[in-house]
Amino acid sequence: TPILVWLRRDLRLADHPALYAAAQSGRPLIPVFIHDESVEALGAAPRFRLGLALAALGDELAARGSRLILARGAADEVLARLIAETGAGAVFWTRCHDPEAIRRDTGVKADLVARGIEAKSFPGQLLFAPWDVATGQGGPYRVFTPFWRAVRGRDVGEALPAPARLVAPDRWPVSARLESWRMAAGMRRGAQIVAGHARPGEAAAQARLEAFLAERLADYAARRDFPAEDATSGMSEHLAWGEIGPRQLWQAGQRAREEGVAGAETFLREVAWREFAYHLIYHFPELPRQNWRAEWDGFPWATDPDAPEVVAWKRGLTGVPFVDAAMREMYVTGRMHNRARMIVASYLTKHLMTHWRIGLDWFAEHLTDWDPAANAMGWQWVAGSGPDAAPYFRVFNPETQAAKFDPDGAYRDRWIAEGRARPSRTALSYFEAVPRSWGLSRAVPYPEPVVGLAEGRARALAAYEAQKAG
Ligand code: FAD
Repeated sequence: TPILVWLRRDLRLADHPALYAAAQSGRPLIPVFIHDESVEALGAAPRFRLGLALAALGDELAARGSRLILARGAADEVLARLIAETGAGAVFWTRCHDPEAIRRDTGVKADLVARGIEAKSFPGQLLFAPWDVATGQGGPYRVFTPFWRAVRGRDVGEALPAPARLVAPDRWPVSARLESWRMAAGMRRGAQIVAGHARPGEAAAQARLEAFLAERLADYAARRDFPAEDATSGMSEHLAWGEIGPRQLWQAGQRAREEGVAGAETFLREVAWREFAYHLIYHFPELPRQNWRAEWDGFPWATDPDAPEVVAWKRGLTGVPFVDAAMREMYVTGRMHNRARMIVASYLTKHLMTHWRIGLDWFAEHLTDWDPAANAMGWQWVAGSGPDAAPYFRVFNPETQAAKFDPDGAYRDRWIAEGRARPSRTALSYFEAVPRSWGLSRAVPYPEPVVGLAEGRARALAAYEAQKAG
């Protein structure tokens, strides 16, 4: 009988233990993606990027005589329907580790087992299952450095090849058409512009990784903080949908470290941050919504997502060029450099004293690499409310940061058109990408700062001192 391979955040063929095991069995195999409520809950950009990933995977499967079956509805109901239609006797999938997916999968598994269907879950999303890394006391880690020490030298085994053969069933079940899902519907005006910056698919992920290892890894530690440079791996948009597995990154990084390549250790450490984010969200499922440190519950964050200074932040109109450049980069490309993410998050939560959840939600709407764990950890880390967080009193000064990490202004020039005699094409593309209703044009002068940097900093620190004094 056929095996349904239920795909979620693992849209690849190589190093895919669930798909590999299904293929090894020699039984007919039916790859399925279900548009369930987890897809409905996605922000516009991640949903759009998912559509690109599904199209690419569909092509890869078709090239191997297989297919990607698309179906819409609650996962348990869709699987039951497909089992009835195909006579499948088993469902295989890659485990997800965010709280909502775990809840869903636990229910689905119980339901399948009750019907006498084999339900088997596999690793592949993470290097280390959250329950396989524990402190000396047997509990979860709350601080990154000891977590890193615990995993740093671990061997994660050889990455699996793509299955040599995918046996097709005698008859394929009915599939929805991807176009009918209108995955770009939330993108307002900018879908085609964002698409121009995406590199969807497993082949693109592999090529990008190889280029990174050959050309950029050696300088990674030295150059990764300069947002105008293409010095990082760019793997996040691929990891988010599983177009590549983390094991390939880990193995390549470990090999390079053994060969003495500078940068390899730093790269492995960053990959471990992703693991740590999942470790945290697994053990503390409220991470995306609640302050990790309860003492922050009383902090006087502003909570109006439509306050004028918050709208200015969202639209890249704060009058602070480094912040605005970063917000525009995200709007146009679906990505933002890590250094810039820290700066805009600090600016929102400190200079504008606005709740990190407002920033988290805006990122979730606009990042093509949106990841529930990394985004939540990142925001709580910068805000100071999270585990192992930067202390609140460490307020990034965007001007000093710009002087250090964008010394010649290349990043700001790339994204800010106003006041430039000959603005760059990318800076102009922002005005193409934003919705007309924002009423923006490069002819409108660049805004004055919505808050003075010294004033914003002083206000935040005063609130922080008052909170501490309790
Ligand atoms: P590289 O520097 O090449 O790093 C390699 C890989 O390591 C990345 O692809 C990523 O998987 C992992 N990694 C690196 N830094 C981090 C980190 N700080 N936390 C977790 N994993 C990390 N990353 C996301 O993937 N999705 C998000 O939604 C997201 N939101 C963030 C929000 C904030 C406020 C902050 C400060 C950071 C956020 N990050 C997020 C982490 C980080 O900014 C991106 O992973 C990184 O910029 C991606 O670029 P890269 O793939 O070239 O990274």
